[in-house]
Order: sequence, then C-alpha cells, then structure tokens
Amino acid sequence: MAEEKTLYMVVPCYNEEAVLHETAKRLKEKYVSLIERELISKESRVVFVNDGSKDKTWDIICELHAADPQYFSGINLARNSGHQNAVLAGLMTVKDICSMAITMDADLQDDVNAIDAMVEKYHEGNQVVYGVRSARKTDTFFKKFTAEGFYKFMKVMGADVVYNHADFRLMSSRVLKELANYREVNLFLRGLVPLIGFQSCNVYYERAERFAGESKYPLKKMLAFAVNGITSFSTKPLKLITAVGFLMSIISVIAIIWAFAVKIIGRSELGWSSTMCAIWFIGGLQLLALGIIGEYVGKIYAEVKQRPRYIIADFINETDNKNN
Ligand code: UDP
Ligand code: MG
Repeated sequence: MAEEKTLYMVVPCYNEEAVLHETAKRLKEKYVSLIERELISKESRVVFVNDGSKDKTWDIICELHAADPQYFSGINLARNSGHQNAVLAGLMTVKDICSMAITMDADLQDDVNAIDAMVEKYHEGNQVVYGVRSARKTDTFFKKFTAEGFYKFMKVMGADVVYNHADFRLMSSRVLKELANYREVNLFLRGLVPLIGFQSCNVYYERAERFAGESKYPLKKMLAFAVNGITSFSTKPLKLITAVGFLMSIISVIAIIWAFAVKIIGRSELGWSSTMCAIWFIGGLQLLALGIIGEYVGKIYAEVKQRPRYIIADFINETDNKNN
C-alpha cells in the first residue's frame, strides 16, 4: 500500500541561503531514486522549515516549492524559535500526512546517502532509526573534543542519549504521534526519542563538513544546549549537591574535633587562615548549589507557563500525486 511509504523530510533552516539550492538538488536526486526503487511513495515531500531567517531563505524555499511542488514544501515560522523547536514544528505538521519522517540539517553535514539505509531499516520494521556518526575526521580538534565530551558528560549526568547521534533520524508516524504527547517546553529531542521506545536501530554515516555558510552553534549556544540537555533529563546534579553537602558535614565534624584538640593543646589563636579558607570554600559551594537549584527552578518556571513552542505563519504543501 502506497500509504505506508510516504516519507517527509524535515529540514530546519536558519540563514541557510548559501546551501539551500545544493541541499534541494541532492534531496531531489535522492527522492527520484528512492521513488524509482519503490522504497517511498510519490506523495513523499521535503519540508524546509524556515526558522525566522534574516536572509533570503524563505524566498528560496518558496521558489523551490513553485518550481517543484511535487518534491518541496515549506513551513515558515513566525520568528526564530531555535533548532529543536523548528524540527518539532516540522514533525508535528507532517505527523498525520506521512508514514515516516526524517529530520536532517540543511547544511549537508548529514549524509544524504544514509537515507536509503534508514528507509530500508524502516521497512524492516524499525520505528526509529538513529543516524550515528562513524567518524569525525572533518571536525576541528576543539569541536570533536567538546562534542564527544558532551555525550560522555550527558551519560555520567544521567541523560541517556545515543552516542554520537545528533538530530539525523527517522521516526515513524506512530512514534511521532507519541512524541506529540510530550508537552515540555525545554525541548531536547535526542534525549526524548529514546524515552518513547519502540524497535530502533542505528545507521552509520560519516559526517561531512558544512557545505557553505557558518555554524549557528557557537560555543556559548553549545554549552547552553548541554546544560539544557542535562537539566531537562536528569536530577542527578541535585542529588550531587546533597552528596557534597553530606560529605562537607562529615568533614566539618572532623574539623571541629581537630579545633578542640588544638585548643586543648593550647595553640588556639592559630586558626585564622583555616577559618578564612573554610568561609570562602563553603561560600563558593553554597552559591554553586544555589545556582544548580536555580537552574531547575527556572525550568519549572518555563514549563508552568505552557507557552507555545513555535508558531507557524505559513505552510505551503501540495499533496497531489506526482504525475510521472
Ligand atoms: N538551525 C535552526 N535554528 C537555529 C539554529 C540553527 O533551524 O536557531 C538549523 C540550521 O539551519 C541547521 C541546523 O539547525 O540546518 C543545525 O545548525 P548548525 O549546522 O549551525 O549547527 P552545527 O552543525 O554547527 O552544530
Ligand atoms: Mg551543521
């Protein structure tokens, strides 16, 4: 049945005018071959999600749609909502009209040729297929170091993510319908999808260099992303505070005994430097603990407001069958 083969690609785009034409060209070639091999239906589409770009990205998406409505659709968000929300906006828009959706970055870092394997895995019965990087040859040492550190740190902190998997993944419409029930505002898809469950597998690919333009994830954004990932998925940092507090109490009991011992021996005015150290150390520790708790309180604040995670301004999509 053709219905079970409809693939919608969701491609978030933020100021991507330099790469969009090339991305569209490669995806169209891929679609033509996938349709020929009958792996996907003719109703399949590529949906570019314009995430409030300041350049010509939306104009290009409109042009692509006008020229090839049987391949390209577009969603225009009312403003920049961030990568994760842009992806979600795309997924939630297509969840009822597709049988599977693949999310992929616009900059061609994700390998277009891995799509074949993903779709094949879907036909073998997998509901989620994770695109996993087999090598990081093209990353700078710094990017590689921080990115791999990120996955390890996430694991230690209790957020179970698939190692070296970013947001290049296939999900069936079944999984998308479940994803719709996760209402959180602090969105971290790569932590969320494994929580949904269902049969899943990995497809390995080599991550290429950005085709053109520059990364929209500077270090500051990357750190914010990591903190968001950890605090959205794990309360381990809170437990850590308790553990450190407990340890400190034990140490202070020992210190008190020591202080008394010194007093009994009769050398009591010695204590100035150790007192100063203790004040600074405990003060620093308390502020850190407060900061971590504050991070969670901030999260709760954002969640209770239940604001919309994205606002769709336009959706251009032609669902007529391809004629040839
Ligand atoms: N992106 C987005 N909204 C943003 C930032 C980025 O939709 O606010 C998109 C961007 O266009 C790209 C993807 O998210 O398709 C990944 O961004 P980027 O390539 O800059 O990140 P990196 O690969 O350097 O981590
Ligand atoms: Mg990129």
